[in-house]
Amino acid sequence: MTQISPYPHQVEIIEVGPRDGLQREATLISTDDKAALIAGLVAAGLRRIQVTSFVHPRLVPQMADAEELCRRLPQLPGVAYSGLALNLKGVERAEQAGLRHIDISVSASEAHSQRNANRFVADALTGFQEMVQQARAYGMSVRGGIQCAFGYQRPDDVSPETVLDIVRHHLDLGVDELALADSSGLANPRQVQALLAEIMPLAGDVPVILHLHDTRGMGLANVLAALQGGVRHFDTAFGGLGGCPFIDDATGNIATEDTAYMLHEMGIETGLDLAKLTAVSREYEERLGKKLPGKLYTLL
Ligand code: ZN
Repeated sequence: MTQISPYPHQVEIIEVGPRDGLQREATLISTDDKAALIAGLVAAGLRRIQVTSFVHPRLVPQMADAEELCRRLPQLPGVAYSGLALNLKGVERAEQAGLRHIDISVSASEAHSQRNANRFVADALTGFQEMVQQARAYGMSVRGGIQCAFGYQRPDDVSPETVLDIVRHHLDLGVDELALADSSGLANPRQVQALLAEIMPLAGDVPVILHLHDTRGMGLANVLAALQGGVRHFDTAFGGLGGCPFIDDATGNIATEDTAYMLHEMGIETGLDLAKLTAVSREYEERLGKKLPGKLYTLL
């Protein structure tokens, strides 16, 4: 009997560097430079990029140019840009800025929700529903996210039951995609496998995206576990930049180029050009004046 490989031929990488990567950076990047960055990421083969978030500029000054940036995005066939919204106003702004894809989420952690969004999870779920309905009315596609799906301050301070309840809630509302975020970088491979074993059958045809942070160096191990669990879509950020401004120790996302390297070496296609990706990270090392968490860009 031949054994069926648990690995796919192809994986989709969604670049979140311009949003998650830059939001915590004190060095303000100009709109022109962000547009050039995004063009560079597209040239490196990325076809889905989360470009900005529609939050109050006072909360995240780096994202104050959201509308202006959207006007300057290189419009190319097959390239989809998304923006993150935290409330109805954000959905409205994204639509007016011309985006067709919106990323909205709720936190599975009561403590994180109150600190990050200043609302109880139950209220956030009601708000989420209103945002989905508004985005639908605009004809936008909706990616429904769950932050802190693997814990907030400890891996056991968010129960899998809570996450599953939110998954069902999102699916009932008809989200186009489901995104599970390890916002604090707490997940371990066994936990990823256990949660996915529950979620994948519920999700059915709705794609599940994993958004991993490499805070404790477990990012790529979790990618491997997720691949084995059936996940085919991952959020990554060039150079491993990133982190939630409302989680003290949340450091970078898994690096786009490191993730792509691992996948390529495993015989899994991403469509990404490693030389071009690492060039982007090297440029940003210089621009931000610090070493980035990614590994590969220092080698290639
Ligand atoms: Zn993140």
